[in-house]
Amino acid sequence: MAVLISACLLGICCRYDCKAKKNQMACKLAQKEILIPVCPEQLGGRPTPRKPVEILNGRVTESDGTDHTDEFIRGAVETLKIAQINNIKTAVLKSNSPSCGFGKIYDGTFSKTLTDGNGITAELLSKNGVKILNEYEIEALLY
Ligand code: SF4
Repeated sequence: MAVLISACLLGICCRYDCKAKKNQMACKLAQKEILIPVCPEQLGGRPTPRKPVEILNGRVTESDGTDHTDEFIRGAVETLKIAQINNIKTAVLKSNSPSCGFGKIYDGTFSKTLTDGNGITAELLSKNGVKILNEYEIEALLY
């Protein structure tokens, strides 16, 4: 069964800083399962590279307050469509991201502080019945 995955985990340069952050376990998983890579921020219309954002009080903003919430919601909706078209039950999403993070995200102070919460896409997928794992939990899908 296909698994949705944050594209940056496979080395696609879609991160805000345009750097590749290939994850070895994700690449291992690609040998075993059909993976569907997505980048919700690009799907929402954000450019690459782009300024970092964090979530505070439900809004997704840059450190100067520039608001990108609408684009993040659009990216989440498009990602959910891709998940539903492919009957996705499980997604491996990059930890801590304002889109992909699940359980923990940065707290909106741009001080590298984590708080409890979900990224916009992770939240929408989870609410629609998709099981969310992060890159540290891939092993569960390998064996
Ligand atoms: Fe990776 Fe998700 Fe950020 Fe895109 S939105 S760069 S897939 S963590």
